[in-house]
Amino acid sequence: AQDATPPMPWFGMDIGGTLTKLVYFEPTDLSEAEEESEVETIKNIRRYLKSNKAYGETGHRDAHLQMESVSVGNRIGTLHFIRFPTSEMRQFLELCKSKGMASLASTICATGGGAYKFEEGFQREMNLTLHKFDELDSLISGIEYIEDNNMDSECYYFLNPRSPNLCQKVTYDFSNPYPFLVVNIGSGVSILAVDGPDDYRRVSGTSLGGGTFLGLCCLLTGCNTFEEAIELAANGNNENIDKLVRDIYGGDYERFGLSGDIVASSFGHMNSAEKRANVSREDLACATLITITNNIGSIARMVAANEKIEKVLFVGNFLRVNPISMKLLSHAMEFWSEGKLKAIFLEHEGYFGAVGCLLELMK
Ligand code: ADP
Repeated sequence: AQDATPPMPWFGMDIGGTLTKLVYFEPTDLSEAEEESEVETIKNIRRYLKSNKAYGETGHRDAHLQMESVSVGNRIGTLHFIRFPTSEMRQFLELCKSKGMASLASTICATGGGAYKFEEGFQREMNLTLHKFDELDSLISGIEYIEDNNMDSECYYFLNPRSPNLCQKVTYDFSNPYPFLVVNIGSGVSILAVDGPDDYRRVSGTSLGGGTFLGLCCLLTGCNTFEEAIELAANGNNENIDKLVRDIYGGDYERFGLSGDIVASSFGHMNSAEKRANVSREDLACATLITITNNIGSIARMVAANEKIEKVLFVGNFLRVNPISMKLLSHAMEFWSEGKLKAIFLEHEGYFGAVGCLLELMK
């Protein structure tokens, strides 16, 4: 079977609207003969990728997500997870060229919109033909692969998501997965219903996604990065921006069981000049994060009810370093469904499309 596998190096790439995700498989089972015959370029690429955590100004390897001793295409090795902004694609191509990638005549599998948009650039700059795969097919097969290979520690949920003292991250046993919903929160949002292995439908989506949060946050606060936006949000109070049920009712709206502290109108205070004069950048970031998160949560709930599905997986890089949104989604799913729905999260967040794409290379 070894003969049937493609030549190394093995990469899967997901070129999204905001971030490009790269998964690299490093074989750890090389025989001595293989090691000797391996071309210098491949050794160099491996050395370069492994020895660094940061590549230039904007590339990062998520070392904490690295997976050891996994099997890909009959080989055993390590999966490395790397990301950089899609806006830096030109610099990435330059880097690949300088590392000698262009001379390897290997196949790169790519998914995401950028696989189409940058196809010509890869051809021209590196003489590389991209093998393109559908991003949602890749996403689903990536989730299934990682779930199988990292069963004990991939999925989790939050217990007591609203209580700072009692909130706990708990491992979720996903060995009996079907059916489940996947809410992929990237630049935009796609919602998929998965009924069985290789059996899924895209049932809904919204353009109000992670890109909207970041875009609005930059406009409103002058921040420049996602990390900064999240940091601001963590130190803000949305009650200075949003109109709550109690701002309208003076207390709870008892007849329909709406507690006074529920948001009735996102940004509803901002028509008042007086209120506007008293908000901070932190408050604005916080309200933006909550607005976008709650909107996605409520669409996810409607889809789950429609499809009669109770397990809802949230993935995508919007959830990166973003416990506020994860806890909010956890609470919202449980509360508004009277405990029927469960929000589940995955450690490898935004990398499933790239993993699925790498697996396509083996087919
Ligand atoms: P896409 O494939 O559309 O690029 P991702 O799943 O990679 O989608 O998620 C992109 C979103 O992730 C951004 O819109 C932003 O909300 C969030 N994000 C997390 N980390 C970063 C980062 N370092 N730079 C930019 N956006 C980030």
